[in-house]
Amino acid sequence: MQLADIFINFEEGLYQQGVKTPGGWKGWRKFFIANKKIESDEIIFLPSGSGRQGPTADVQASISDSPTPNHFRISVKREFATGPKPAGRVSNVLYESLPIGAELDVSMPFGDFVLYINATTPAVLISGGVGLTTMMSMLKTIVNQQGNARKVVFIHATRNGYVHAMKEGLFHIIAENPSVSRVVFYEEASAQDKKGVDYVHVGGVNLAEIKNDAVLPDADYYICGPQPFMKAQSKSLENLGVSPDRIHMEVFGSPSD
Ligand SMILES: Cc1cc2nc3c(=O)[nH]c(=O)nc-3n(C[C@H](O)[C@H](O)[C@H](O)COP(=O)(O)OP(=O)(O)OC[C@H]3O[C@@H](n4cnc5c(N)ncnc54)[C@H](O)[C@@H]3O)c2cc1C
Repeated sequence: MQLADIFINFEEGLYQQGVKTPGGWKGWRKFFIANKKIESDEIIFLPSGSGRQGPTADVQASISDSPTPNHFRISVKREFATGPKPAGRVSNVLYESLPIGAELDVSMPFGDFVLYINATTPAVLISGGVGLTTMMSMLKTIVNQQGNARKVVFIHATRNGYVHAMKEGLFHIIAENPSVSRVVFYEEASAQDKKGVDYVHVGGVNLAEIKNDAVLPDADYYICGPQPFMKAQSKSLENLGVSPDRIHMEVFGSPSD
């Protein structure tokens, strides 16, 4: 009972915070799917426009673009059935059954994994797999609001070019913003993937190998991806002398990660 009260009070606190936040709301609000785009073999993005009041939701997803009051984009990795594991429920519904125009019940975005937008010191954004959605949102927010005043290093690891989402968007941002650089790792490049164009290194993220690019004075480090990935990267950063209070992480990914 005491535990239930703690959760109820916590939830109420979030609602109150939501109401006080400019553009925020309490409970659920109807959004509709404004567009659907297959970003890679596994990731879809869904920009949504706002609508009316309504109940319930089933999945957590991060915002993958700089948000506006009535428009949020999310990008969801499709969880296929593999071996004894069934296919993910909501990610497959988003892919297959929900058409453009379908309504979704959306709570106000919450969380403590947030970008310090008032900082001008470098931001190093480190993502594994679908964790890049959050990093794209942070990257776009920095370049939209701070221009080239803040150095950003975008470090991303994925399996290969087939599942490398938002690659073109990242190229575009880098071409327009000399303050942004990227280091991409492919676990195993495919025959179509070009070294130096699509990716730089083969294998998992190795921050020690790229420490001159990745570890910068006064930088903040944002890490998002499967839990083992985040643990490994934060440990590497600490081994490279980064203070833990500069390392920010989001527990992310499906429960199977
Ligand atoms: C803070 C946060 C932010 C997130 N942001 C994103 C995001 O931006 N994009 C994104 O794609 N995901 C994100 N996630 C993950 C997301 O919430 C879901 O976990 C993911 O989309 C899978 O949902 P699902 O309903 O498709 O799968 P589910 O049906 O919940 O299944 C999840 C996994 O468990 C396996 N599974 C289910 N039942 C069983 C069983 N009986 N035995 C064995 N295995 C089983 C499935 O095969 C699948 O791999 C985020 C999670 C958190 C916590």
